[in-house]
Amino acid sequence: MQLVFATHNRNKFLEVQKLMPSHIQLLSLNDIGCTEDIPETGKTLLANALLKADFVTKNYALPCFADDTGLLVDALNGEPGIYSARYAGEDKNAEHNMNKLLKNLKNCANRQARFVTVIALQLKHEHQIFEGRINGEITLQKFGQDGFGYDPIFRPAGYTQTFAELPLSEKNKIGHRGKAIQKLLNYLNSLQSNN
Ligand code: IMP
Repeated sequence: MQLVFATHNRNKFLEVQKLMPSHIQLLSLNDIGCTEDIPETGKTLLANALLKADFVTKNYALPCFADDTGLLVDALNGEPGIYSARYAGEDKNAEHNMNKLLKNLKNCANRQARFVTVIALQLKHEHQIFEGRINGEITLQKFGQDGFGYDPIFRPAGYTQTFAELPLSEKNKIGHRGKAIQKLLNYLNSLQSNN
């Protein structure tokens, strides 16, 4: 079965491709000739994931899944949320995003936050939703070099290191995206064993 992962992010694609069961041939947006940025105009992570998956099934008639992730900070009423990538501007600069968040949380005692990933899977006549989340807190400054996005300022609950200091294998095991992907894989495997 061919299945599209609606992403232009090569690293994300390769990471997920490695985990796919053998009966699934994973295709990227580039593989199907879709080079445009699919508009993410939804008001929630779920709406954006559905928009991306729907776009592919409508325009390319292929089964597809799409993900959307946000960092939700309690003291900022859930910001940056769906705007996590472009929190400090359209250039999606991770350093600027982190600096803005640290500034907005200056002198703030409540630093609780969570990452949430929503995956929308669009098969022939049905869609399925999978969610992964991890609670943690925003540190007072950046720690660690690894990872991407907000990793240097997010410390998962129960850990003394930020995501940027933890090994990638540990981040994938406990993290939002890893958990959502695992649920998707369990579902795809269950379809195969029911056939
Ligand atoms: P996306 O939906 O996966 O593109 O994620 C949207 C934005 O959330 C990214 O541009 C990052 O700023 C942030 N983000 C998503 N996942 C992570 C993560 O695992 N660590 C740090 N930041 C992340």
